[in-house]
Amino acid sequence: MPTVTRPHLLECHECGTLQRLPAMPPGARAACATCEAHLRRTRADPFSAPLALNIAGLVLFAIGTGWTLLSVSTAGQSRDADLLTGPREMGHFGLWELGAVVLATTVAAPLARIAATTAVLVSLRLRHRPPGIPALFAWTEHLRPWAMVEIFLLGLFVAYVRLSDIAHIDLGPSIAALAALTATSFAADTLLDRHAVWEALDAKKPRPNRPPRAATLLGTKTIRMGCDTCGLVSRGYDGAICPRCGFTLHHRKPNSLARAWALTLAAAILYIPANTYPILTVIRFGAGQPSTILEGVRELLEAGMWPLALLVFFASIAVPVLKLFGLVLLLITAMARVRARRRDRTALYRIVEAVGRWSMIDIFMESILVALVQFGAIVTIVPGAGAIAFAAVVVLTMLAARAFDPRLIWDRAAPAPAGPVPAGPASEGPAQSAAA
Ligand SMILES: [Zn+2]
Ligand SMILES: [Zn+2]
Repeated sequence: MPTVTRPHLLECHECGTLQRLPAMPPGARAACATCEAHLRRTRADPFSAPLALNIAGLVLFAIGTGWTLLSVSTAGQSRDADLLTGPREMGHFGLWELGAVVLATTVAAPLARIAATTAVLVSLRLRHRPPGIPALFAWTEHLRPWAMVEIFLLGLFVAYVRLSDIAHIDLGPSIAALAALTATSFAADTLLDRHAVWEALDAKKPRPNRPPRAATLLGTKTIRMGCDTCGLVSRGYDGAICPRCGFTLHHRKPNSLARAWALTLAAAILYIPANTYPILTVIRFGAGQPSTILEGVRELLEAGMWPLALLVFFASIAVPVLKLFGLVLLLITAMARVRARRRDRTALYRIVEAVGRWSMIDIFMESILVALVQFGAIVTIVPGAGAIAFAAVVVLTMLAARAFDPRLIWDRAAPAPAGPVPAGPASEGPAQSAAA
C-alpha cells in the first residue's frame, strides 16, 4: 500500500469542476478549488482502524437488537421494548408503513451498511477478490443517509422524559450498546478513505479484464464524467455504465429539477396533515387525548422541560419548513440561472441535505412510546395518522435534496468574470470544465 497517493482526476460532486488531485501524503485534505467542497482526506493506515471499528459495530449491533432498550412499569404491570417492538406495535395498529420506515432506518440500513463495509475491508486482505465487492461498496455509499441509529437515540431520550411522569422506567443494556455503536460508526466513517478503498479494489481486479472505458455508441458524443457513486472519471456517454462500480453514469442527475420540484411540492402538501392530524393519542382510563406535533412541544414546555421542547420544535417544525423553503429557493435560482452567491447556495444545499434526517426524532419517539405504553384500560398510547404524513414529509424532502443536482447552481450560470480562484489546501486549480 503506497503511503503517498497517485495523482488522479476527480469531478467535484457539488459544482462539477473536473480537477486533478495531486499526490497526497497521509493526513492531507483536498478541497474543491471552485466551491470548497470536501474531496478527499488521506490516512496513514486507511483500512485497519475502520475494519476494527466496523467489526466492533457488528458486535454492538447484535447486543443492541437482542437485548432490552427500556422497561416500564405502572400499576403492577410491566413491559419491555427492544428495537423491533415499536415497528411491530405500529403494524398492530394498522400503520405498517410507519413501522417499515422505523425498521428500515434503525435496523436494516445500519446493519446492511456495517456488514457490507466489513465484508469489503476483509476482502482487501484476501489474495483473490470475491465477485460483487465493488457493487457492495457502492451500496454502502447510497445507504449512508438512511442509517439513523444516532437520531433514534435522541428520540429515545425524548420518549424517556415524556414517559417519566406516566410510569417507572428502567434503562436496558441495549441503550449503551447503541450509544457505543453510534460512536464506532462515526469514527469508522471519519477514518475511512473511500478513494483508497476504490484504488485498492482496482488493483485487485480479477484478470482478464475489459478496457476501463464505457462502450462508445456510433454517433454519440462522449464526454468525461465523474461517477456519482465511486468518483472514477471516465469517458463515456450519458447513461453508460461506470466501469468501476457498475452504477449508471450521468453528466448531471437526470430530470433533476422536475424530480426535485415534484418531491418538494408533495412534501409541502403533506406538511399540512402532518401538523393538523394527531401524531399520537394517550388514552387514560378510556378517555383519549390526541396530540399533534405542536401540542407535544407545548406539553414539554408545560412540564418545564424547555430544552427538550426546543429540540423537538427545532427538529420537527423548524427544520422541515426551512428545508422546504431552502429547496424552493435552490430550485428557483437554478431555473432562473441566477449567478449571485453560488458558494452560499452550495452551502445551503449542504445544510438542507445534512439536517433533514434529524426530523425523524418525533417518529422514533412515537415508536418507543407505542411499544411501551400498552397498559390496557389504565394507559395506552395509540399512533395517529399525522405520524404517517410527517414521516412522508421527512422522507420526501430527503429524496428531493438527493434529486436536486447542486452542479446546476454552477453550470447554469453564465461564466464568472476572470479572477484569482482560491485553491483548497491540497488541490490544484480546475483542470478543465466537465463539459469540455
Ligand atoms: Zn466544487
Ligand atoms: Zn462508479
